[in-house]
Amino acid sequence: MNGALFLLTVNFLIAQLFCVFFLVISRRSRIPSAGRWFAAAFAVASLSAIFEVVIRYADIDRLASFGAFSSVLGALVMIRVGLGRLYGVPANVWAMTVLFGASLTLNLMIYDLPRGTFFHSLGYQMPFAIAELICAIAVYRSGRRETADRILMALLLLTAGNFASKVYFAVAFSGGETAQAYLGSTYALVSQSLSAVLVVSTGLTLLAVIVVEIMDDAKANSEIDPLSGLLNRRGFDARVSQILARPMSAYPHCVIVCDLDHFKSVNDTYGHAAGDQVILSFGRMLAGHSPPEAICARFGGEEFAIFLPSTGEATGYLFAQGLRNTFSSLVIAGLPDTVRLSASFGVCALAAPGDSIADAIKGADAALYDAKKSGRNRVNRAGQTMTNSPQEWQAQA
Ligand code: GH3
Ligand code: MG
Ligand code: MG
Repeated sequence: MNGALFLLTVNFLIAQLFCVFFLVISRRSRIPSAGRWFAAAFAVASLSAIFEVVIRYADIDRLASFGAFSSVLGALVMIRVGLGRLYGVPANVWAMTVLFGASLTLNLMIYDLPRGTFFHSLGYQMPFAIAELICAIAVYRSGRRETADRILMALLLLTAGNFASKVYFAVAFSGGETAQAYLGSTYALVSQSLSAVLVVSTGLTLLAVIVVEIMDDAKANSEIDPLSGLLNRRGFDARVSQILARPMSAYPHCVIVCDLDHFKSVNDTYGHAAGDQVILSFGRMLAGHSPPEAICARFGGEEFAIFLPSTGEATGYLFAQGLRNTFSSLVIAGLPDTVRLSASFGVCALAAPGDSIADAIKGADAALYDAKKSGRNRVNRAGQTMTNSPQEWQAQA
Protein backbone atom coordinates (compact mmCIF):
# COMPACT_ATOMS: atom_id res chain seq x y z
CA MET A 1 0.00 0.00 0.00
CA ASN A 2 1.61 3.27 -1.06
CA GLY A 3 1.29 6.57 0.78
CA ALA A 4 -1.61 8.02 -1.21
CA LEU A 5 -3.61 4.80 -0.89
CA PHE A 6 -2.91 4.66 2.83
CA LEU A 7 -4.14 8.23 3.20
CA LEU A 8 -7.28 7.44 1.24
CA THR A 9 -8.05 4.62 3.65
CA VAL A 10 -7.47 6.93 6.62
CA ASN A 11 -9.66 9.63 5.00
CA PHE A 12 -12.42 7.09 4.45
CA LEU A 13 -12.38 5.96 8.08
CA ILE A 14 -12.21 9.51 9.42
CA ALA A 15 -15.18 10.58 7.26
CA GLN A 16 -17.15 7.56 8.49
CA LEU A 17 -16.30 8.40 12.10
CA PHE A 18 -17.47 11.98 11.62
CA CYS A 19 -20.69 10.65 10.17
CA VAL A 20 -21.29 8.65 13.37
CA PHE A 21 -20.29 11.59 15.62
CA PHE A 22 -22.72 13.93 13.88
CA LEU A 23 -25.56 11.40 14.07
CA VAL A 24 -24.99 10.87 17.79
CA ILE A 25 -24.56 14.53 18.71
CA SER A 26 -27.41 15.84 16.55
CA ARG A 27 -29.88 13.88 18.69
CA ARG A 28 -29.18 16.32 21.52
CA SER A 29 -29.35 19.39 19.32
CA ARG A 30 -32.28 21.77 19.05
CA ILE A 31 -31.81 21.59 15.27
CA PRO A 32 -31.12 17.88 14.69
CA SER A 33 -31.49 18.21 10.92
CA ALA A 34 -28.27 20.28 10.72
CA GLY A 35 -26.19 17.50 12.27
CA ARG A 36 -27.92 14.92 10.07
CA TRP A 37 -27.02 16.86 6.93
CA PHE A 38 -23.39 17.00 8.10
CA ALA A 39 -23.48 13.25 8.83
CA ALA A 40 -24.84 12.62 5.32
CA ALA A 41 -22.16 14.91 3.87
CA PHE A 42 -19.35 12.98 5.53
CA ALA A 43 -20.90 9.62 4.50
CA VAL A 44 -21.07 10.80 0.89
CA ALA A 45 -17.58 12.33 1.07
CA SER A 46 -16.16 8.99 2.30
CA LEU A 47 -17.32 7.43 -1.00
CA SER A 48 -14.78 9.55 -2.85
CA ALA A 49 -11.98 7.53 -1.21
CA ILE A 50 -13.56 4.32 -2.52
CA PHE A 51 -13.85 5.81 -6.01
CA GLU A 52 -10.21 6.82 -5.93
CA VAL A 53 -9.16 3.28 -4.99
CA VAL A 54 -11.31 1.99 -7.85
CA ILE A 55 -9.50 4.35 -10.20
CA ARG A 56 -6.27 2.75 -9.13
CA TYR A 57 -7.23 -0.90 -9.41
CA ALA A 58 -10.10 -1.18 -11.88
CA ASP A 59 -10.45 -0.25 -15.49
CA ILE A 60 -13.40 2.11 -15.12
CA ASP A 61 -11.40 5.25 -14.82
CA ARG A 62 -13.90 7.68 -16.26
CA LEU A 63 -16.84 6.52 -14.15
CA ALA A 64 -14.80 6.33 -10.93
CA SER A 65 -13.20 9.73 -11.49
CA PHE A 66 -16.66 11.21 -12.05
CA GLY A 67 -17.86 9.43 -8.90
CA ALA A 68 -15.01 10.83 -6.80
CA PHE A 69 -15.66 14.34 -8.05
CA SER A 70 -19.43 14.23 -7.58
CA SER A 71 -19.24 12.70 -4.10
CA VAL A 72 -16.97 15.48 -2.82
CA LEU A 73 -19.06 18.19 -4.46
CA GLY A 74 -22.28 16.55 -3.26
CA ALA A 75 -20.86 16.51 0.27
CA LEU A 76 -20.06 20.22 0.07
CA VAL A 77 -23.60 20.98 -1.10
CA MET A 78 -24.94 18.98 1.86
CA ILE A 79 -22.65 20.90 4.24
CA ARG A 80 -24.15 24.11 2.84
CA VAL A 81 -27.68 22.82 3.48
CA GLY A 82 -26.68 21.80 7.03
CA LEU A 83 -25.10 25.20 7.67
CA GLY A 84 -28.34 26.77 6.44
CA ARG A 85 -30.27 24.86 9.10
CA LEU A 86 -27.72 25.48 11.85
CA TYR A 87 -27.26 29.20 11.16
CA GLY A 88 -30.77 30.04 9.94
CA VAL A 89 -29.58 31.00 6.44
CA PRO A 90 -31.39 28.53 4.15
CA ALA A 91 -29.53 27.44 1.02
CA ASN A 92 -30.90 28.65 -2.30
CA VAL A 93 -32.04 25.32 -3.76
CA TRP A 94 -32.00 26.56 -7.35
CA ALA A 95 -28.53 28.07 -7.11
CA MET A 96 -27.12 24.92 -5.49
CA THR A 97 -28.79 22.65 -8.08
CA VAL A 98 -27.44 24.75 -10.94
CA LEU A 99 -23.93 24.79 -9.41
CA PHE A 100 -24.04 21.05 -8.85
CA GLY A 101 -25.45 20.23 -12.33
CA ALA A 102 -23.12 22.60 -14.18
CA SER A 103 -20.07 21.32 -12.27
CA LEU A 104 -20.88 17.67 -13.05
CA THR A 105 -21.35 18.51 -16.75
CA LEU A 106 -18.07 20.41 -16.73
CA ASN A 107 -16.34 17.48 -15.07
CA LEU A 108 -17.50 15.11 -17.82
CA MET A 109 -16.34 17.61 -20.44
CA ILE A 110 -12.83 18.02 -19.07
CA TYR A 111 -12.17 14.34 -18.49
CA ASP A 112 -10.38 13.91 -21.81
CA LEU A 113 -8.12 16.89 -21.28
CA PRO A 114 -4.71 15.78 -20.02
CA ARG A 115 -4.28 16.18 -16.26
CA GLY A 116 -1.79 18.71 -15.12
CA THR A 117 -3.02 21.23 -17.69
CA PHE A 118 -4.49 24.54 -16.61
CA PHE A 119 -7.99 23.96 -18.00
CA HIS A 120 -8.30 20.50 -16.51
CA SER A 121 -7.27 21.76 -13.08
CA LEU A 122 -9.48 24.79 -13.35
CA GLY A 123 -12.54 22.72 -14.31
CA TYR A 124 -11.81 20.19 -11.59
CA GLN A 125 -10.95 22.40 -8.63
CA MET A 126 -13.01 25.56 -9.08
CA PRO A 127 -16.42 23.99 -8.30
CA PHE A 128 -14.99 22.84 -4.96
CA ALA A 129 -13.50 26.26 -4.26
CA ILE A 130 -16.82 27.97 -5.12
CA ALA A 131 -18.84 25.54 -2.94
CA GLU A 132 -16.52 26.13 0.04
CA LEU A 133 -16.76 29.87 -0.53
CA ILE A 134 -20.57 29.66 -0.56
CA CYS A 135 -20.41 27.81 2.79
CA ALA A 136 -18.14 30.50 4.27
CA ILE A 137 -20.50 33.23 3.01
CA ALA A 138 -23.45 31.44 4.64
CA VAL A 139 -21.72 31.53 8.06
CA TYR A 140 -20.80 35.18 7.48
CA ARG A 141 -24.37 36.10 6.53
CA SER A 142 -25.73 34.53 9.72
CA GLY A 143 -24.09 37.38 11.65
CA ARG A 144 -22.92 34.97 14.35
CA ARG A 145 -19.42 35.73 15.53
CA GLU A 146 -18.66 33.32 18.37
CA THR A 147 -15.11 31.91 18.39
CA ALA A 148 -16.25 28.61 16.84
CA ASP A 149 -18.13 30.52 14.09
CA ARG A 150 -15.05 32.59 13.26
CA ILE A 151 -12.79 29.51 13.17
CA LEU A 152 -15.31 27.73 10.94
CA MET A 153 -15.46 30.70 8.56
CA ALA A 154 -11.65 30.88 8.43
CA LEU A 155 -11.35 27.14 7.75
CA LEU A 156 -13.95 27.25 4.98
CA LEU A 157 -12.13 30.16 3.35
CA LEU A 158 -8.79 28.39 3.76
CA THR A 159 -10.21 25.26 2.14
CA ALA A 160 -11.64 27.35 -0.70
CA GLY A 161 -8.16 28.87 -1.11
CA ASN A 162 -6.61 25.40 -1.00
CA PHE A 163 -8.84 24.21 -3.86
CA ALA A 164 -8.16 27.37 -5.86
CA SER A 165 -4.40 27.05 -5.32
CA LYS A 166 -4.51 23.49 -6.60
CA VAL A 167 -5.28 24.91 -10.03
CA TYR A 168 -1.79 26.39 -10.02
CA PHE A 169 0.06 23.65 -8.15
CA ALA A 170 -1.45 20.82 -10.20
CA VAL A 171 0.04 22.50 -13.29
CA ALA A 172 3.32 23.50 -11.67
CA PHE A 173 4.05 20.11 -10.13
CA SER A 174 2.11 18.12 -12.74
CA GLY A 175 -0.32 15.94 -10.89
CA GLY A 176 0.02 13.11 -13.43
CA GLU A 177 -1.40 12.83 -16.90
CA THR A 178 -4.05 10.28 -16.06
CA ALA A 179 -6.15 9.72 -12.98
CA GLN A 180 -4.06 6.64 -12.16
CA ALA A 181 -0.74 8.42 -12.59
CA TYR A 182 -2.05 11.23 -10.42
CA LEU A 183 -2.70 8.90 -7.52
CA GLY A 184 0.88 7.65 -7.59
CA SER A 185 2.43 11.13 -7.64
CA THR A 186 4.07 12.95 -4.74
CA TYR A 187 1.78 15.87 -5.52
CA ALA A 188 -1.24 13.68 -4.75
CA LEU A 189 0.30 12.72 -1.41
CA VAL A 190 0.91 16.33 -0.37
CA SER A 191 -2.42 17.54 -1.73
CA GLN A 192 -4.37 14.78 0.00
CA SER A 193 -2.54 15.25 3.31
CA LEU A 194 -3.35 18.95 3.33
CA SER A 195 -6.95 18.29 2.35
CA ALA A 196 -7.24 15.68 5.11
CA VAL A 197 -6.03 18.19 7.72
CA LEU A 198 -8.55 20.77 6.47
CA VAL A 199 -11.41 18.26 6.34
CA VAL A 200 -10.69 17.05 9.89
CA SER A 201 -10.39 20.62 11.21
CA THR A 202 -13.63 21.68 9.50
CA GLY A 203 -15.42 18.56 10.79
CA LEU A 204 -14.20 19.19 14.34
CA THR A 205 -15.22 22.84 14.18
CA LEU A 206 -18.70 21.95 12.91
CA LEU A 207 -18.98 19.54 15.83
CA ALA A 208 -17.81 22.30 18.17
CA VAL A 209 -20.45 24.70 16.82
CA ILE A 210 -23.18 22.12 17.47
CA VAL A 211 -21.79 21.32 20.94
CA VAL A 212 -21.70 25.03 21.85
CA GLU A 213 -25.30 25.37 20.66
CA ILE A 214 -26.32 22.35 22.80
CA MET A 215 -24.51 23.80 25.83
CA ASP A 216 -26.11 27.24 25.36
CA ASP A 217 -29.50 25.58 25.15
CA ALA A 218 -28.87 23.50 28.26
CA LYS A 219 -27.82 26.65 30.13
CA ALA A 220 -30.92 28.54 28.96
CA ASN A 221 -33.15 25.61 29.97
CA SER A 222 -31.52 25.43 33.39
CA GLU A 223 -32.63 29.04 33.92
CA ILE A 224 -36.25 28.58 32.86
CA ASP A 225 -39.11 27.34 35.00
CA PRO A 226 -40.91 24.75 32.87
CA LEU A 227 -44.41 25.31 34.32
CA SER A 228 -44.70 29.09 34.02
CA GLY A 229 -42.16 29.62 31.23
CA LEU A 230 -40.67 32.44 33.32
CA LEU A 231 -37.08 32.48 34.58
CA ASN A 232 -36.33 30.47 37.70
CA ARG A 233 -34.38 31.85 40.65
CA ARG A 234 -31.03 31.05 39.01
CA GLY A 235 -32.04 32.80 35.77
CA PHE A 236 -33.41 35.76 37.71
CA ASP A 237 -30.19 36.18 39.71
CA ALA A 238 -28.05 35.89 36.56
CA ARG A 239 -30.04 38.56 34.63
CA VAL A 240 -30.25 40.93 37.56
CA SER A 241 -26.49 40.63 38.21
CA GLN A 242 -25.86 41.54 34.56
CA ILE A 243 -27.94 44.71 34.94
CA LEU A 244 -26.36 45.67 38.26
CA ALA A 245 -22.87 45.13 36.80
CA ARG A 246 -23.49 47.64 34.01
CA PRO A 247 -21.56 50.82 34.69
CA MET A 248 -24.39 52.89 33.19
CA SER A 249 -27.05 51.22 35.31
CA ALA A 250 -29.44 54.02 36.33
CA TYR A 251 -30.54 53.77 40.00
CA PRO A 252 -32.94 53.25 41.68
CA HIS A 253 -34.15 49.79 40.65
CA CYS A 254 -37.07 48.06 42.17
CA VAL A 255 -37.97 44.48 43.06
CA ILE A 256 -41.48 43.12 43.60
CA VAL A 257 -42.11 39.77 45.29
CA CYS A 258 -45.58 38.25 45.10
CA ASP A 259 -47.34 35.20 46.44
CA LEU A 260 -50.76 33.80 45.54
CA ASP A 261 -53.29 33.96 48.36
CA HIS A 262 -54.78 30.80 49.84
CA PHE A 263 -53.29 28.78 47.05
CA LYS A 264 -53.30 25.59 49.08
CA SER A 265 -57.08 25.68 49.15
CA VAL A 266 -57.15 25.95 45.32
CA ASN A 267 -55.23 22.68 45.18
CA ASP A 268 -57.40 21.14 47.87
CA THR A 269 -60.66 22.22 46.23
CA TYR A 270 -59.98 21.93 42.50
CA GLY A 271 -56.99 19.60 42.32
CA HIS A 272 -53.29 19.99 41.67
CA ALA A 273 -53.75 20.30 37.88
CA ALA A 274 -56.05 23.29 38.39
CA GLY A 275 -53.42 24.73 40.76
CA ASP A 276 -50.83 24.37 38.01
CA GLN A 277 -53.14 26.20 35.64
CA VAL A 278 -53.36 29.08 38.11
CA ILE A 279 -49.54 29.28 38.28
CA LEU A 280 -49.42 29.26 34.48
CA SER A 281 -52.07 32.00 34.21
CA PHE A 282 -50.34 34.16 36.78
CA GLY A 283 -46.99 33.73 34.99
CA ARG A 284 -48.57 34.71 31.66
CA MET A 285 -50.17 37.75 33.22
CA LEU A 286 -46.81 38.85 34.67
CA ALA A 287 -45.00 38.37 31.36
CA GLY A 288 -47.80 40.03 29.41
CA HIS A 289 -48.12 43.10 31.61
CA SER A 290 -44.47 43.75 32.41
CA PRO A 291 -42.36 46.18 30.39
CA PRO A 292 -39.84 44.53 28.05
CA GLU A 293 -36.88 45.34 30.29
CA ALA A 294 -38.52 43.76 33.36
CA ILE A 295 -37.14 40.45 34.63
CA CYS A 296 -39.95 38.13 35.68
CA ALA A 297 -39.34 34.90 37.56
CA ARG A 298 -41.06 32.16 39.46
CA PHE A 299 -39.07 31.64 42.62
CA GLY A 300 -40.84 28.38 43.41
CA GLY A 301 -44.26 27.15 44.52
CA GLU A 302 -46.67 30.04 44.06
CA GLU A 303 -44.10 32.77 44.67
CA PHE A 304 -42.93 35.13 41.92
CA ALA A 305 -40.59 38.09 41.55
CA ILE A 306 -40.22 40.99 39.15
CA PHE A 307 -37.15 43.19 38.83
CA LEU A 308 -37.85 46.58 37.27
CA PRO A 309 -34.65 48.28 36.14
CA SER A 310 -34.40 52.06 36.50
CA THR A 311 -37.69 52.21 38.39
CA GLY A 312 -38.30 53.80 41.79
CA GLU A 313 -40.28 52.21 44.61
CA ALA A 314 -43.30 54.47 44.05
CA THR A 315 -43.60 53.47 40.38
CA GLY A 316 -42.97 49.84 41.29
CA TYR A 317 -45.76 50.10 43.84
CA LEU A 318 -48.23 51.41 41.23
CA PHE A 319 -47.19 48.71 38.81
CA ALA A 320 -47.76 46.04 41.48
CA GLN A 321 -51.20 47.52 42.19
CA GLY A 322 -52.00 47.13 38.50
CA LEU A 323 -50.97 43.47 38.60
CA ARG A 324 -52.96 42.87 41.77
CA ASN A 325 -56.04 44.40 40.17
CA THR A 326 -55.71 42.48 36.94
CA PHE A 327 -55.20 39.17 38.71
CA SER A 328 -58.09 39.66 41.08
CA SER A 329 -60.49 39.92 38.14
CA LEU A 330 -58.91 37.22 35.99
CA VAL A 331 -61.04 34.26 34.88
CA ILE A 332 -58.79 31.21 35.09
CA ALA A 333 -59.13 28.28 32.72
CA GLY A 334 -59.92 25.09 34.63
CA LEU A 335 -61.68 26.92 37.51
CA PRO A 336 -65.38 27.78 37.70
CA ASP A 337 -66.16 31.10 35.96
CA THR A 338 -67.31 32.68 39.22
CA VAL A 339 -64.06 31.96 41.08
CA ARG A 340 -61.60 34.84 41.45
CA LEU A 341 -58.23 34.57 43.15
CA SER A 342 -55.87 37.14 44.56
CA ALA A 343 -52.21 37.69 45.28
CA SER A 344 -50.20 39.77 47.74
CA PHE A 345 -47.18 41.87 46.85
CA GLY A 346 -44.12 43.34 48.53
CA VAL A 347 -42.08 46.12 46.90
CA CYS A 348 -38.55 47.24 47.72
CA ALA A 349 -36.10 49.52 45.93
CA LEU A 350 -32.36 49.31 45.42
CA ALA A 351 -31.83 52.99 45.91
CA ALA A 352 -28.09 53.34 45.34
CA PRO A 353 -25.12 51.48 43.84
CA GLY A 354 -23.95 48.96 46.40
CA ASP A 355 -27.48 48.01 47.51
CA SER A 356 -27.63 44.26 47.08
CA ILE A 357 -30.44 42.44 45.32
CA ALA A 358 -30.46 39.93 48.20
CA ASP A 359 -31.26 42.73 50.69
CA ALA A 360 -33.91 44.17 48.35
CA ILE A 361 -35.57 40.76 48.05
CA LYS A 362 -35.46 40.42 51.84
CA GLY A 363 -37.11 43.84 52.15
CA ALA A 364 -39.77 42.95 49.58
CA ASP A 365 -40.37 39.62 51.37
CA ALA A 366 -40.90 41.42 54.67
CA ALA A 367 -43.37 43.78 52.97
CA LEU A 368 -45.14 40.79 51.42
CA TYR A 369 -45.36 39.14 54.82
CA ASP A 370 -47.00 42.28 56.18
CA ALA A 371 -49.42 42.34 53.23
CA LYS A 372 -50.42 38.75 54.06
CA LYS A 373 -50.85 39.57 57.74
CA SER A 374 -52.97 42.61 57.03
CA GLY A 375 -55.55 40.71 55.01
CA ARG A 376 -53.96 39.65 51.67
CA ASN A 377 -54.85 40.94 48.16
CA ARG A 378 -52.72 44.01 48.78
CA VAL A 379 -49.39 45.65 47.99
CA ASN A 380 -46.95 46.74 50.69
CA ARG A 381 -43.75 48.74 50.40
CA ALA A 382 -40.61 47.84 52.28
CA GLY A 383 -39.98 49.66 55.52
CA GLN A 384 -43.67 50.29 56.01
CA THR A 385 -45.51 48.43 58.72
CA MET A 386 -48.91 46.76 58.56
CA THR A 387 -50.47 50.16 58.92
CA ASN A 388 -50.45 51.42 55.36
CA SER A 389 -50.35 55.05 54.38
CA PRO A 390 -53.71 56.59 53.46
CA GLN A 391 -52.81 56.65 49.75
CA GLU A 392 -52.05 52.95 49.85
CA TRP A 393 -55.37 52.12 51.46
CA GLN A 394 -57.00 54.18 48.74
CA ALA A 395 -55.06 52.46 45.97
CA GLN A 396 -56.04 49.07 47.35
CA ALA A 397 -59.69 49.89 47.68
P1 GH3 B 1 -50.98 32.21 51.76
O1 GH3 B 1 -52.17 33.01 51.36
O2 GH3 B 1 -50.57 32.48 53.15
O3 GH3 B 1 -49.85 32.37 50.80
O4 GH3 B 1 -51.44 30.69 51.75
P2 GH3 B 1 -51.15 29.62 50.66
O5 GH3 B 1 -52.14 28.52 50.79
O6 GH3 B 1 -51.08 30.24 49.32
O7 GH3 B 1 -49.69 29.17 51.03
P3 GH3 B 1 -49.10 27.82 51.56
O8 GH3 B 1 -47.62 28.06 51.66
O9 GH3 B 1 -49.83 27.35 52.79
O10 GH3 B 1 -49.37 26.77 50.42
C1 GH3 B 1 -48.75 26.81 49.18
C2 GH3 B 1 -49.19 25.61 48.41
O11 GH3 B 1 -48.69 25.69 47.08
C3 GH3 B 1 -48.70 24.34 48.99
C4 GH3 B 1 -48.18 23.55 47.80
O12 GH3 B 1 -48.72 22.27 47.73
C5 GH3 B 1 -48.63 24.35 46.63
N1 GH3 B 1 -47.70 24.27 45.51
C6 GH3 B 1 -46.38 24.54 45.51
N2 GH3 B 1 -45.86 24.36 44.26
C7 GH3 B 1 -46.90 23.99 43.46
C8 GH3 B 1 -47.02 23.65 42.08
O13 GH3 B 1 -46.05 23.67 41.31
N3 GH3 B 1 -48.25 23.31 41.61
C9 GH3 B 1 -49.33 23.27 42.43
N4 GH3 B 1 -50.51 22.94 41.89
N5 GH3 B 1 -49.24 23.55 43.73
C10 GH3 B 1 -48.06 23.92 44.26
MG1 MG C 1 -49.48 31.62 49.00
MG1 MG D 1 -45.97 30.71 49.35
